[in-house]
Amino acid sequence: MLATVLILSPPTVGDKGPFPRYGGSVKIHVANHPLITHKLTVLRDEKTNSPTFRQLVEELVMLLAYEATREVKTVPLKIKTPVAETTGLVLAKPRPVVVPILRAGLGMLEGMTRLIPTAEVGFLGMVRDEKTLQASTYANRLPEDLTGRQCYILDPMLATGGTLIAAMNYLIEKGAQDITAITILAAPEGMKNVEDAFATSNFPITIVTGAMDEKLNERGYIVPGLGDAGDRLYGVV
Ligand code: URA
Repeated sequence: MLATVLILSPPTVGDKGPFPRYGGSVKIHVANHPLITHKLTVLRDEKTNSPTFRQLVEELVMLLAYEATREVKTVPLKIKTPVAETTGLVLAKPRPVVVPILRAGLGMLEGMTRLIPTAEVGFLGMVRDEKTLQASTYANRLPEDLTGRQCYILDPMLATGGTLIAAMNYLIEKGAQDITAITILAAPEGMKNVEDAFATSNFPITIVTGAMDEKLNERGYIVPGLGDAGDRLYGVV
């Protein structure tokens, strides 16, 4: 008789299902997919060079954006195929707004616009004080009025959550009422801070991330993480 042997492997980073999880009014989706975990593993490796890192970020964003855009607004459109008339769905107007947070979020833009070529792109420059870990805005290029627009924030690392909370508040001040953030990695502490900040918000806030890591270290870096995402994308300046 054949016996079934269950081998319990030790937990690996990025393997923390089941997801999605809902916290207050913030909807969180942590990817639980072997292809994403594979790409993340190569991305994390300190031996991975910048060109490969950039390529992997682009591929990861496309995979994550697929999930993040699950509720993108569409409208019906009648078309004629070579065989029959039918009604399909196309993206609604106004177009979604994609907002990469400078500088590291820029590395995610190509993957996102490949998936939604018609999206409008805004930019938000935010910097984190390495001592206080507080985020502040140093530049912005966004539509003045975001009322009724679906906004997609791109920021690879959800660490303390400070940058993401500040960016979301900034978009909310401009009228945004439907915000999704796409991050490559997240720390539980930062995710909780975002959940707490928007626990009573009465409109959809979603975070889609490639993996939930273990923790933050004393310098506010995600552990095991991948180091400084901006430096790994573009080199140290
Ligand atoms: N920003 C990064 O680039 N890496 C981290 O680990 C945390 C914040």
